[in-house]
Parts: sequence; structure tokens; C-alpha cells
Amino acid sequence: MPRDSEQLSNASPKKDPTENARDALLLALQSKTKFVGAGWDCIVARGIMTKQDVHLDPHTWIGETRISAEDPTKYTIHLGTRDVPEALGEQVIFRFKQLSPEDRLLYRLSHEICHVVCPIATEIDREFGRLFSMLEVMRRNGHAMSSLGNLDMYRTAGSVVQATEDLVELTNMFMIDPEYLRAYFVFLSDPQQQGRRDALGLHHLQSERVAKMLFTMIENGVTRFLNSS
Ligand SMILES: [Zn+2]
Repeated sequence: MPRDSEQLSNASPKKDPTENARDALLLALQSKTKFVGAGWDCIVARGIMTKQDVHLDPHTWIGETRISAEDPTKYTIHLGTRDVPEALGEQVIFRFKQLSPEDRLLYRLSHEICHVVCPIATEIDREFGRLFSMLEVMRRNGHAMSSLGNLDMYRTAGSVVQATEDLVELTNMFMIDPEYLRAYFVFLSDPQQQGRRDALGLHHLQSERVAKMLFTMIENGVTRFLNSS
């Protein structure tokens, strides 16, 4: 839609079409993910965000969560609704090809929502905070738990930013569906997948015990977050 007519529809009492699309996406989180819908409800119940703080941009595929300049406890999400370029999507999103375009968009929206969930979960659950420290140490030693965090824009920002993306990605996979995260950990530990992991610069999870420990830390952190509001 041309910019001018967008502005016209903004001026009218009718809803902007992107607001309808946003409302539909937030609703889809409830039925198409295991915990992201409940996570979003907690964020709203805590007064951190309302749906008006989620802005869709049909001109890009980039998503971003911003902390409010006036109040650092508040956030806005800016989500590009274009599909991610295929090569990049395959690189940074586990099982990208098996996701429908709508699921890919929901994945990216829930990733941004997890940027709001993770700092709160870190505050209320000590073990979840310890998980972040572990991921940060792993990053400093060259071990990546997400290929998203390997992108140049994060690599140049340093290990804290990279570990933040790792934590958000693991939390996102769990909140979409715990089985999705389980499958990702199997991928990280499967000897047959070594070539693919090397190509993506991903860590090889050598011990099933460690995979289970990481899974439990995420599960407990998310559960405590969901029960906290
Ligand atoms: Zn992110």
C-alpha cells in the first residue's frame, strides 16, 4: 500500500490494516505455540507492553525490540513482515524450510517477545541467570549455541550480545514447543550432523547430561516467568 494511503487510514477512526494483522498474529501465538501466547499475556499483565507497542513494517524482514528511552522497564517491538531471505533463514532458523511463511513470521515475533521475557526470567530465576553466564563464557571460548548469534552484527558487538541472542533463541524454541528445542539439542549432539554444525559454526553438545541440564534450566526459567505475574 502506498505511504500516502497508509497515512490517510491512520488519520481515520478505522484501524490501520497493519493493526489488524498485528492483532491476528498475537492471537495466532495463543493457538500455534505452546507458551508464547501465555508469555505475551504475562508481559501485558505486568504492564510492560500492550499490543499498541507491537509495530509491523511491511517494507522489511528485520525485527527489533527496543527499550523505551523514557522508561527502561518498557519495550516496543518492530517487526518486519517480509519473509526472511531463504539462505539467511536456513542459516539462522532451525528447520526453517519446514515452517510455513506464517510460522516463520510467528517465530520472529516470538523471538522479539523472548527479548522481553529473558531479562525478567533472569531476574526471578537464579538458575536462568546462571544459564546466561554459562552461555556468555561459552561464547568467549568460541562455542556458539545459536547460529543467529554468529551473524557479523552480533559478533562485532561481543560475547554478551551473542550470548543474549543464544539465550533468546533457546528460550524461543522452548516457548514455541518444547519438542522443537529437544530436536534442536539432538541436532547439536548428533555426530552425523557434525558437517552441518561446522558449516554454521555451532557448538557440538557432547553430553546428553549437559543437554538435559540446559533444557531443564530453560524449562524452569520459563515456568517461573509464566507463574510470576
Ligand atoms: Zn534477537
